Amino acid sequence: MTTHKLFLLPGDGIGPETMHEVKEIIAFMNSEGLAAFEIDEGLAGGAAYDAHGVGISDDDMAKAEAADAVLFGAVGGPKWDSVPYEVRPEAGLLRLRKDLQLFANLRPAICYPALAASSSLKPEVVEGLDILIVRELTGGVYFGEPKEIIDLGNGQKRAIDTQVYDTYEIERIARVAFDLAKTRKNHVTSMEKRNVMKSGVFWNEVVTKVGAEEYPEVELDHMLADAGGMQLVRWPKQFDVIVTDNLFGDMLSDVAAMLTGSLGMLPSASLGAPDAQTGKRKAMYEPVHGSAPDIAGQGIANPLAMIASLAMCLRYSFGMVAEAGLLEQAISKTLDQGIRTSDIMSEGMTEVGTNGMGTAVLAEFEILLGEGQE
Ligand code: NAD
Repeated sequence: MTTHKLFLLPGDGIGPETMHEVKEIIAFMNSEGLAAFEIDEGLAGGAAYDAHGVGISDDDMAKAEAADAVLFGAVGGPKWDSVPYEVRPEAGLLRLRKDLQLFANLRPAICYPALAASSSLKPEVVEGLDILIVRELTGGVYFGEPKEIIDLGNGQKRAIDTQVYDTYEIERIARVAFDLAKTRKNHVTSMEKRNVMKSGVFWNEVVTKVGAEEYPEVELDHMLADAGGMQLVRWPKQFDVIVTDNLFGDMLSDVAAMLTGSLGMLPSASLGAPDAQTGKRKAMYEPVHGSAPDIAGQGIANPLAMIASLAMCLRYSFGMVAEAGLLEQAISKTLDQGIRTSDIMSEGMTEVGTNGMGTAVLAEFEILLGEGQE
């Protein structure tokens, strides 16, 4: 059995609490012989600052580079609000994304049937929703130069951000989207603003070319990003994979996130380019939520986003598609039984803490695995 090297960075606040539940699932998979995970753990964020004076140490960065995948909890909190900007907790997270060159951010928006009623949209609009937003993460207007505020000398100032994309940046994110679509419903929607932006015209051209030349079997359509935002809340089930740039992806993925209810439910993955020799991609998996200092240490955080991040890791880094599916099914079944953490609690349901939820999901996972072997 191949050994998978997993590097865990629980971080701060509720990070270590939710990561604990993931560690239990990993230990279970190892003990059942389902996989051979080799686990190492480091410090990120405020925890790294307290120990080393930086958001992540060089030593832990090297371990992240050497790992097959990184599982990240969350960082930050009021304790570190006044530390210098360059060594703030979030700097550790940004360094990981930058040094590992994680250019593709994957955010699934899955609406578990049991939680359809807690979405701000009508249940029939979101029930059974399963879409994936692929956001370009290392280019575009957040990084383009010039990026400055200049004094025009006449009492006026001018602020400039630059939206810039090179061919290779669009090609590689388009390939990620097409490859993922092939494992899903075979449908990609590319979103940009070609009606008013040159970069939108170019984005559209490059994605169309990659699609036609390399993925003729995948259905591709294009939508203006503003219309896409509207369609996401009107009838989100029309989408399978959405691919878009850094700025639009930032906004559209937050819109999609809210379709599904709570922040405590949302996993994400950030992927790099495949290694020329091994074909393996650098990858980091993390919940969308932060360190939730308001509830940290109380044992009430929802661990489902962290557990669903592990499921993404199994699927995308280790090709353990069946196990990933069963773990996601275990989450769904646990919710069907009415088990809830406080953030998703509603009348008539059973409230549990972080550990109660983790244990319930693990028990369901075990049952589902057993059924699969019968
Ligand atoms: P947050 O996501 O930590 O919390 C927002 C709200 O959602 C809080 O009320 C919190 O209790 C709740 N919440 C979040 N996750 C939850 C979970 N799993 N279960 C139950 N409730 C949950 O965002 P914030 O309050 O804006 O930020 C707190 C800290 O986290 C800040 O220092 C911020 O910089 C940091 N942050 C880190 C990341 C990251 O590490 N990726 C992301 C966002 C924010």
